[in-house]
Amino acid sequence: MLNTLRRIIQEVTVAKDLDQALEVIVLRVKKAMDVDVCSVYMTDKVQNENVLMATDGLNDEAVGMVRLKKNQGLIGLVGKREEPVNLADAPVHPCYQYFPESGEERYHAFLGVPIIHHRELQGVLVVQRHSKKHFSEDKVTFLVTIAAQLAGAIAHAEASGGIDGLHSRAQGARSAVPLQGQPGAPGVAIGTAVVNFTATNLEVVPDRAADDIKAEVSLFKKAIKDVRKDIQSMLKRMTEVLPAEERALFDAYLLMLEGAGISDEVIRRIKQGNWAAGALRETIAEHMRAFDAMEDDYLRERAEDVRDLGRRILEKLRSQEPPKPKKFPVRTVLAGDEITASMLAEVPVKRLVGVVSRRGSQTSHVAILARAMGVSAVMGVDELPVSHIDGRSIIVDGYTGRIFINPSRTVRGEFKHLLREEAELSKELHELREKPAITPDNVGIPLYINSGLLADVRPSLKSGAEGIGLYRTEFPFMVRDRFPGEDEQCKIYRQVLKAFSPAPVTLRTLDIGGDKMLPYFPIEEDNPFLGWRGIRISLDHPEIFLVQLRAMLRASAGLSNMNLLLPMINSVAEVDDALRLLRRAYHELIDAGVNINMPHVGVMIEVPSAVYQVRELARRVNFISVGTNDLTQYLLAVDRNNARVADLYDSLHPAVLRALQQTVDGAKDEKTPVGVCGEMAGDPAVAILLLGMGVDNLSMSAANLPRVKWVIRTFTQRKARMLLKEALTFESAHLVRHFLNSALEDAGLGGLVRAGR
Ligand code: PEP
Ligand code: MG
Repeated sequence: MLNTLRRIIQEVTVAKDLDQALEVIVLRVKKAMDVDVCSVYMTDKVQNENVLMATDGLNDEAVGMVRLKKNQGLIGLVGKREEPVNLADAPVHPCYQYFPESGEERYHAFLGVPIIHHRELQGVLVVQRHSKKHFSEDKVTFLVTIAAQLAGAIAHAEASGGIDGLHSRAQGARSAVPLQGQPGAPGVAIGTAVVNFTATNLEVVPDRAADDIKAEVSLFKKAIKDVRKDIQSMLKRMTEVLPAEERALFDAYLLMLEGAGISDEVIRRIKQGNWAAGALRETIAEHMRAFDAMEDDYLRERAEDVRDLGRRILEKLRSQEPPKPKKFPVRTVLAGDEITASMLAEVPVKRLVGVVSRRGSQTSHVAILARAMGVSAVMGVDELPVSHIDGRSIIVDGYTGRIFINPSRTVRGEFKHLLREEAELSKELHELREKPAITPDNVGIPLYINSGLLADVRPSLKSGAEGIGLYRTEFPFMVRDRFPGEDEQCKIYRQVLKAFSPAPVTLRTLDIGGDKMLPYFPIEEDNPFLGWRGIRISLDHPEIFLVQLRAMLRASAGLSNMNLLLPMINSVAEVDDALRLLRRAYHELIDAGVNINMPHVGVMIEVPSAVYQVRELARRVNFISVGTNDLTQYLLAVDRNNARVADLYDSLHPAVLRALQQTVDGAKDEKTPVGVCGEMAGDPAVAILLLGMGVDNLSMSAANLPRVKWVIRTFTQRKARMLLKEALTFESAHLVRHFLNSALEDAGLGGLVRAGR
């Protein structure tokens, strides 16, 4: 059974659109379960109906015609109960509805299971039989297992074909229906989608109109020639070490390349107007489907070979792309399966208005970069039809996490209006630049910037920041092919320190591991976020840590604005060890005659153990900085990058708020200043709570700084304390958020947390 299940899922996954996916499901499930009918009803969310979308067993003419209101019939019953309905004789059930066009009067036994994706009903999978007998438990569990796994694949197929799919076919209204992701960076953008992908990711290559068909054909032919050459030389190398039968794989590859099949089909598709890479994706997917559908295990495995071959050709195609800068539309929305920092860097800053990524979440580092650049972003759009949106018009709502592909005129008009209001708002915010962040009852809360790129130092200065509260040193490490040397590092740090001097700059020591990997220092772990990261690596590698500490200290020579921050601290011993190494580096440099001061040192509170030992930690250092991105992840046991659980990741969870209050109180008891540098600090609604808690400073992305300043200048600390007290009585993050947003609306600041003024 396991094999059958795996095969069905695989076939559905590679289906080219929803129709094909559903067709595969009904045929395969009917056969596997040995039933008389298998049908899929899909939920049309616009019309609130369940529509028969595919069947093997009922009359074909009924497809698209049989439509039941949401709660109507046995299908409605399955949807309402959200669990299987197993009946020996369906026609005698009170919910039974008869549709003459379906020809279904001949069937008695009925088993329907809901298809649920992210808690939402996608449709109902039904099998039926002539006989009057309940389905056995193993049949029920098989159908439940298959429906649970198909939910994601169906949602994806619906989205892939969705633009031309179910809803638009049915009523042309699809473009008014948004796809939902996570808010990544605030703001609204209307632009043109440009899909970016890595050379090895064949599945997400976008369709794109070929500029020059002839050139695309010759590009493809050259790629084929190069791959053939590679395989021939591989074959040559292997001749001595592999027996002939094992070498057959390479022969098979060559055969696939030389035979007319793949090449001719790709060229035919290019001639129809798709560019070479898109034509290749379509062709390879079709071949894989054919192999996947084969009964013979050996032949089925060949699907993987076809995919591998496709990837090789794609790599060659991409390597031939001319080095000339890519053309980006004036209002580019960068979209893709996974957007990386280097993809962002490729787009001219002035042209980039939005980012949409199928993977990742609010605290992924790409979202952090987008915020730093003031570009709206939506992350974790599970159903993003990556291959079909290149060049399409797209709207990004970074407040609610919604995107609209090919938006209808009404939706577009609405968002244009919101954009105008946003522009007004940012003008007002800009005017706040020179004004201090002081509450009406005279409490000053210095606002700092989170940074990590030399390039964003200038916008940071322009945003009216009073310094850098968090400089993530790992970014300069990430864009190199080896650890940067002491001089190299010293130069980077000095530039940042000088740019802000005399305003303070907090340099954080290396925080790699988790989701921040260095290409030249691979770490293989089952649980990277619970593994070797941050200070743990630095202390295990004093030779790397000391180089960084010396570079930082030397960079501060003659300046007195540098603070050092230690990430991922979990015990007092780690602080003691780090301070010992710092003192050693300091004394070595003093002995060498370098003119430096011992910097202020702080620890990050990012793991629950540090919250409980905050007083012991605070006693050892000069300041505390709370990293709420990680603290939320570790307190709630929710991976900050996992789109599947992103709904559960919320820094307003009452447990996180209590931990924060405890941290602030503990630090204050030790008279140690405490700031917040996680993304939460840049959320205008949350800033009210942090002000109420008595936090001494906040550090955030440049784009959010004026928003938070507005809040600080509007709310007295007294009022913030009152709001905090009430917020702490709520039992869920959702209620806290609602309460804070209302407080902002009441104060006339609603435009800070939603689109519009
Ligand atoms: C945090 O965890 O809140 C933080 C600021 O550090 P980073 O996002 O770099 O892990
Ligand atoms: Mg962190």
